[in-house]
Amino acid sequence: MSPDALPSIFDLTRSELSDAIAELGEPAYRGKQIWKALYVEDATSFDEITTLPRLLRDRLAQRYRLDPLTAVLQRKSNDGLVEKTLFRLADGELIETVLMRYESRDGSRARRTACISTQAGCALGCTFCATGQQGFRRQLTAGEIAAQVLHVNRRLAAQAKPGEDKERVTNVVFMGMGEPFANYDNTMRAVGILNDDDGVRLGARHMTISTVGLVPQILKLADEPYQINLAISLHAPNDKIRSATMPINRRYPIARIMRACRTYISKTNRRISFEYVLLSGENDRPEHAEELGELLKGMLCHVNLIPVNATDAGYTRPPDGRIGKFRDILKRSGIAVTVRFEKGTDIDAGCGQLRARALTGAD
Ligand code: SAH
Ligand code: SF4
Repeated sequence: MSPDALPSIFDLTRSELSDAIAELGEPAYRGKQIWKALYVEDATSFDEITTLPRLLRDRLAQRYRLDPLTAVLQRKSNDGLVEKTLFRLADGELIETVLMRYESRDGSRARRTACISTQAGCALGCTFCATGQQGFRRQLTAGEIAAQVLHVNRRLAAQAKPGEDKERVTNVVFMGMGEPFANYDNTMRAVGILNDDDGVRLGARHMTISTVGLVPQILKLADEPYQINLAISLHAPNDKIRSATMPINRRYPIARIMRACRTYISKTNRRISFEYVLLSGENDRPEHAEELGELLKGMLCHVNLIPVNATDAGYTRPPDGRIGKFRDILKRSGIAVTVRFEKGTDIDAGCGQLRARALTGAD
């Protein structure tokens, strides 16, 4: 079998790996050693895992691929804080991963956030989104999702200065290409792999899943054991505006999403983030802010205003004054709100933009 046709070892959960090792007739501690080599020691080949006997390394290499992602393009923003990687998967599909560095400020800890993809492309066609405009290609496996974080960890480790501790990813946001809830099972498997105590050890509280608002999956997440953060891409205060930019709104209109969010909050007691991409002339007027304030009043939530990253679709960000006014109206309605100023616009860090550039050859 060609190496590319082998299953990826990163698709196995911890207990599946233990089972596979038992089937090979190996003692259980070998499974632990392999897990540690993959998720703590950043192994890039079976050969490197010298804690294992050579015969076992060979047997593993005959059965599994170790790295499902190949970096084909790497960009760093001018301020050095954002790095974006375009990966080719074993079958040639392309996905993007972004590393965002936030230095410590006002007592907050420095963060190294990986923004990862869950699908190659996306079927949902939001008009302002570069990924949505490229259509759906395929689901990512759990290993392809989790391995993006491992790549970022390796990059951070490679950048450590001699004598300094290696930096690691501290937070993960499922906000890259694709709709995580349209690939629910693999996304949750990846959460489990990343959360494992003997591996990457990312606390669920440090992970955020962003969804376009798929109601059945919002309800399903409320019953998961993980204390993961939920972000809802709302982007409009009413159905008329929302349906104009987000076709999925016809299937799950705002009232249904709100009902699911209320159930989610009452079950989990966790705060929801609503994302609101500001599109000049579409959803950024003071009356839209008033309407949004009414919609969210009294809810355990937070609003993230995101001036749109310009794409080929012709949307532009509102002037700063209008963004500030929108924020102030929400504040006056008693809603917790922040403005997320773009990071990495100089490297096409917005969702799906680098892939679009690579495919069209524009640059
Ligand atoms: N499919 C999921 C997660 C991936 S998109 C979702 O839609 O939530 C992650 C976030 O980026 C979403 O809030 C999405 O609306 C936003 N986004 C998409 N295109 C954008 C653009 N051009 N500028 C700013 N944000 C954008
Ligand atoms: Fe898909 Fe999210 Fe882009 Fe909409 S914004 S097209 S759901 S990736």
